[in-house]
Amino acid sequence: MSPDEHVALLRTVERISIFDIPICRISHKAATATLIHEAESPGQCVAVFTANADHAVRIQRDEAFRRAYQAADAIFADGMPLIWTSHLMGQPLPARVTGIDLFHSLCEKASERKLPCFLLGATQAVLEEAAVSLQTKYPSLILSGQCNGYFHDDEAVLRLIEEAHPAILFVALGSPKQEAWIAKYAPRLHCRIALAIGGTLDVEAGRVSRAPVPLQKIGMEWFWRLLLEPSRLWRRYLLECPRVLPLLWRDVLRARFPTSTYPIFEKIGQERKDRS
Ligand code: UDP
Repeated sequence: MSPDEHVALLRTVERISIFDIPICRISHKAATATLIHEAESPGQCVAVFTANADHAVRIQRDEAFRRAYQAADAIFADGMPLIWTSHLMGQPLPARVTGIDLFHSLCEKASERKLPCFLLGATQAVLEEAAVSLQTKYPSLILSGQCNGYFHDDEAVLRLIEEAHPAILFVALGSPKQEAWIAKYAPRLHCRIALAIGGTLDVEAGRVSRAPVPLQKIGMEWFWRLLLEPSRLWRRYLLECPRVLPLLWRDVLRARFPTSTYPIFEKIGQERKDRS
């Protein structure tokens, strides 16, 4: 099979456009299996992002971020607003496929299949603690390399990755930096999968706790994060995320009444086109 045919497998996954993002309509289990299949096949690096409401809002106003998203090979629904919207549109996504859950399922499968992984991001202390924790959870996991996220020489990091020959690169530089970095360097990355994982290493290191499962299930994980880091996150969750509401209604109306026109929403689209 040629490298192009392998990438084609990921491309066959159905996408639905929510908030102008082509979201893979796939379960967490199937996403893991597809990515592992990619990781075991020869070919170019596949850029994988997990989207949420604040990404959708940023895409509308930040051209560089929008271009980074356009370079992604697969985008999964991390945030509950995407799931709710898909249901309101009548095209339900099976469930969330979060960066942190994908990170764990990929580590588990990678350890079973001896696929080397590389950790890129977080502070040096967090990175080391996360690596120890991972080796405890998955003793056969091959961590072929790691680098903290406060580097200044991209070329040196690219060389480190090349020397480590990972199948999977986990990029934990926070958003939007990680998406921009992956999009910029994907053609030169010597790995098969580059997955953006945000603050996952801080959770893995035990520095940050994840929201209790009931809160996750009702879409309130953001509230938990806000309680833990109010000064850093209040703007994101209280000012930025609500801006997704017009996009939500636009997508629901378009999906439910496709033959009607919605001048107000066309205006949003036109403003975007004018800016790009
Ligand atoms: N980070 C990094 N380099 C940077 C900025 C941030 O490695 O230049 C790391 C930071 O140490 C933390 C993570 O990125 O581990 C921040 O993730 P955040 O919680 O903001 O990510 P989100 O999941 O919200 O995108």
